[in-house]
Amino acid sequence: MNDCVFCRILNKEIPSQFIYEDDFCFAINDINPKAKKHILVIPKAHIESLNEVEDLNLIKNLFSAIKKINKQENIKEFKTLINTGKSAGQEVFHLHIHILAN
Ligand code: 5GP
Ligand code: ZN
Repeated sequence: MNDCVFCRILNKEIPSQFIYEDDFCFAINDINPKAKKHILVIPKAHIESLNEVEDLNLIKNLFSAIKKINKQENIKEFKTLINTGKSAGQEVFHLHIHILAN
């Protein structure tokens, strides 16, 4: 998906520092943070949104990664957010979970 910003970051076509990576996903700091810490957890597979998720193990893997990232970043209190669809605020149509912590 050449026109997808998160695929381009994963493919190193756009420079971005990975704060976490495993076989299924990677995490970066949001370019426009809406909290003191604003991290995006992004599956490596290009899946447009939660509506396109078929294998729910993916969700398990993402939340397992979130627990590891929070431990690494010393985040104990946080919000998670998934925007699904334009009217819900989704801007990048590659599934991602926001972690927001103040
Ligand atoms: P959405 O609104 O789709 O749930 O969230 C997309 C998020 O991706 C936004 O918070 C936006 O700031 C972030 N974002 C968009 N482009 C880039 C980028 O090139 N690099 C990073 N690090 N974040 C991005
Ligand atoms: Zn993508």
